[in-house]
Amino acid sequence: MLSVYQVTLPTPYKVGPVNIYVIKNRPVTLIDAGADTPEAYKMLRHMLPQLGVNINEIKRVLLTHSHPDHSGLAAKISAESGAAVIAHQLEIKKLTSTEDSIEERLPHVLETGIPTDALQAIQVVRDKLPRPALVDKKMHEVQDGSLIEFENGVSLQVLHLPGHSPGHVCLYSPEQKFFFSGDFMLPHITPNPLMEPDLDHPGRRMPTLSQYLQGLERVEKMDISVVFPGHGGTFSDYHGVIDTVRGHHDVQVKLILGMLKGQDLNTYQLSRKTYPNLGGWDVFLGLSEIQANLDLMLKKQLIGSYKRNGVVYYQTAD
Ligand SMILES: [Zn+2]
Ligand SMILES: [Zn+2]
Repeated sequence: MLSVYQVTLPTPYKVGPVNIYVIKNRPVTLIDAGADTPEAYKMLRHMLPQLGVNINEIKRVLLTHSHPDHSGLAAKISAESGAAVIAHQLEIKKLTSTEDSIEERLPHVLETGIPTDALQAIQVVRDKLPRPALVDKKMHEVQDGSLIEFENGVSLQVLHLPGHSPGHVCLYSPEQKFFFSGDFMLPHITPNPLMEPDLDHPGRRMPTLSQYLQGLERVEKMDISVVFPGHGGTFSDYHGVIDTVRGHHDVQVKLILGMLKGQDLNTYQLSRKTYPNLGGWDVFLGLSEIQANLDLMLKKQLIGSYKRNGVVYYQTAD
């Protein structure tokens, strides 16, 4: 049996607090680490003794993905406890690379028709937090099917479920049917399929929404008792959450088709019409959401596209 404790830590992000999970079975393991802020660190150090865990006992920090609300404190915890930091290879790349995440997406962002001032606002804000100072040798890689083993034959299975982030993993305990979902499945939010360059196909984007919806199909068939999400409370009605997410994307497809009636629009124009109040970094989130839907609609031949002056415009198929 796994002894799981949820610890909720503050983040400076709009998403609100993040959950990390302390698994007290030996070797003591954290699932996610929280944001690298003094407030989150203080809260973690306050909570651990209450759970009867000394920070030195933590042997592994398993990251669902590299986003700073989940991974930020991994370096600090590892430095203090000597814990191994574990993630999927595609997330390790993000956590250890000095490449600018906006610069590598720039060709795709420019294609959306974004005006210079909105682009500059994204570039100025970027991530509010410094990236964790993790170096390659400290990180251990997992992939789909990897087993995270504990004493007495207890284990967690790794599932690679990309879409929100390319190397996003969830963890499943076959014994108790617990599912640690990171940002893959959340009780009240549809995860954003963030725009990502496809490293295997230079110049192309990752088919983030297709990947994500395929992952939902896989999880739908699983036998899960409780979902332990990265944000919000635990829940059991994962079929309901999956239906809500699918419904959300169906609505978006209809909205986009409606906006394209009688006029060709680019991704930026569509995102402004859909989310007129977004500013700064959030403009990038809005673009990602719309672009992911457009990419899937193109694949399904619901719409067509053409390029004019470096900007891609979309039109209805007929
Ligand atoms: Zn995330
Ligand atoms: Zn998150």
